[in-house]
Amino acid sequence: MSKKTAIIIGAGIGGIASALRLAAKGYDVSVLEKNSEAGGKMAQFSQEGYRFDMGPSLFTLPHLVEELFALFGKRMEDYLGVVELPMTCNYFFPDGKKIKAWSDREKFLDEVQNSGVTRQVVEEYLEKQSFLYTHTADFFLFNSIHKPSTFVGDAGKKSLKALHKLDVFTSMHQRNQKTFGESHLVRLFDRYATYNGSDPYRAPATLNMIAHLEHNTGAWFPKNGMYGILNALKKLAEEESVRFLFNTEVTGLVTSGREVTGVRTGDCIYPASVVVNNTDITLFYRDIMPNRQKLRKLMKRERSSSALIFYWGMKMKSELDVHNILFSNDYEAEFRGLFKTKLFADDLTVYIFISKKVVSNDAPDGCENWFVMVNAPENVGQDWEEETTRARELIISKINSMLNLDVEKKIEFEQIITPEDIEERTGSVHGSLYGHSSNSPMAAFLRHPNFSRKYKNLYFTGGSVHPGGGIPLCLASAKIVDGMIDD
Ligand SMILES: Cc1cc2nc3c(=O)[nH]c(=O)nc-3n(C[C@H](O)[C@H](O)[C@H](O)COP(=O)(O)OP(=O)(O)OC[C@H]3O[C@@H](n4cnc5c(N)ncnc54)[C@H](O)[C@@H]3O)c2cc1C
Repeated sequence: MSKKTAIIIGAGIGGIASALRLAAKGYDVSVLEKNSEAGGKMAQFSQEGYRFDMGPSLFTLPHLVEELFALFGKRMEDYLGVVELPMTCNYFFPDGKKIKAWSDREKFLDEVQNSGVTRQVVEEYLEKQSFLYTHTADFFLFNSIHKPSTFVGDAGKKSLKALHKLDVFTSMHQRNQKTFGESHLVRLFDRYATYNGSDPYRAPATLNMIAHLEHNTGAWFPKNGMYGILNALKKLAEEESVRFLFNTEVTGLVTSGREVTGVRTGDCIYPASVVVNNTDITLFYRDIMPNRQKLRKLMKRERSSSALIFYWGMKMKSELDVHNILFSNDYEAEFRGLFKTKLFADDLTVYIFISKKVVSNDAPDGCENWFVMVNAPENVGQDWEEETTRARELIISKINSMLNLDVEKKIEFEQIITPEDIEERTGSVHGSLYGHSSNSPMAAFLRHPNFSRKYKNLYFTGGSVHPGGGIPLCLASAKIVDGMIDD
């Protein structure tokens, strides 16, 4: 009997994870990717002796990657070495205060009690985030909330029973302010809203659970950089006979009745018994399966933030860590800029990520590879040249004053990407990093399901559909799709 065939549209991390899961089910799998290489938002480039991860830099829940190797009786460590970071982030505040967020709970509690908040308050807060995660993850992250069976299953019952404790109707900021009443810690924990491109002043306090991942379960880093995760999964996929077709843009679906029978790429048709779409869901209804009504609905919803990134080859060795944050004076103004005026504020929080701190080959001796990022509004046609020039000046003066450097003198290589570039390269509509924003309590329910109601063999994975963006959630979306196929 011939094998059933599966086509995955897009070689982002969600697409590759879905390809692996279908290969493990015995499907003959092909991944069709418009770009010349895999990864989508999770890309890398090397130039002039420096290597840069272009997208994600934070890696939590590595067991979700491990699971993919286990599907084939293999071990992640044979493909991908990871280290646990002793410090999740090195924080610098405009008033000169510094907080090192140690992964070790006791060490972190020692560090923050200098802020005037007792250990007990911080410890109870972290326990609360652990409670939120354990009472929501199975329901919201690892199951389809678009299937009635999830609501009546164990995961649904557990979440519904704890509903009154899930902090749905308070904002992240309100909860943090009420808990700590101390500006540095409020800022430190408000920042977790940006892990899914949201606004802490509006996103529900349930999302404070994001802090649980770093503070309670650990922050990890691949020994050969973030792209190492993608390379390892792609290698595994190729070993399991998954075919990758690059420079192959899907332009349409071929359907018959309630079934998708294949996908179209210009002049070719690829037959399929199952199709999994990994492209941005808005792009899908705009370009691949045009549907004006769905498109209008998706375009009306607020999108997550984007990013402006400077990749700097630095001729220096700094005292910084892998992940570093230099906070602005007015955090609220930054989020007004991101979601209302759609322009940068006059002071910006700057994130500096240096993979060289773990991967010694990522920069020449005596040098460092700085990934300098500020959150940016979605691309709605702003003058990015002007915005980039303005942001660059703000960033440089902030780094100089907060780190006591003359940073421009140290930059020997520079490349920049704007939200417009991210949109162009990855197909993410408006350059949003995480699909739609999570700025309302209903956002989780409004995300697109992982299946099509119209076609019984069409599924959706990746950061723009349920359960949302970021590597762990993209991997979760592939797991949900896995559970639905042949179910
Ligand atoms: C700057 C930046 C920083 C980030 N930081 C983090 C972080 O620290 N931690 C974290 O967990 N996440 C982070 N993210 C988010 C994370 O990278 C994404 O959520 C995740 O990589 C998205 O994966 P995906 O499966 O949705 O696919 P995507 O990466 O969106 O890939 C979709 C693929 O589909 C392809 N495609 C589009 N149209 C077509 C077509 N018509 N035919 C064929 N192929 C097509 C695209 O070329 C692309 O390769 C960051 C993202 C960016 C950009």
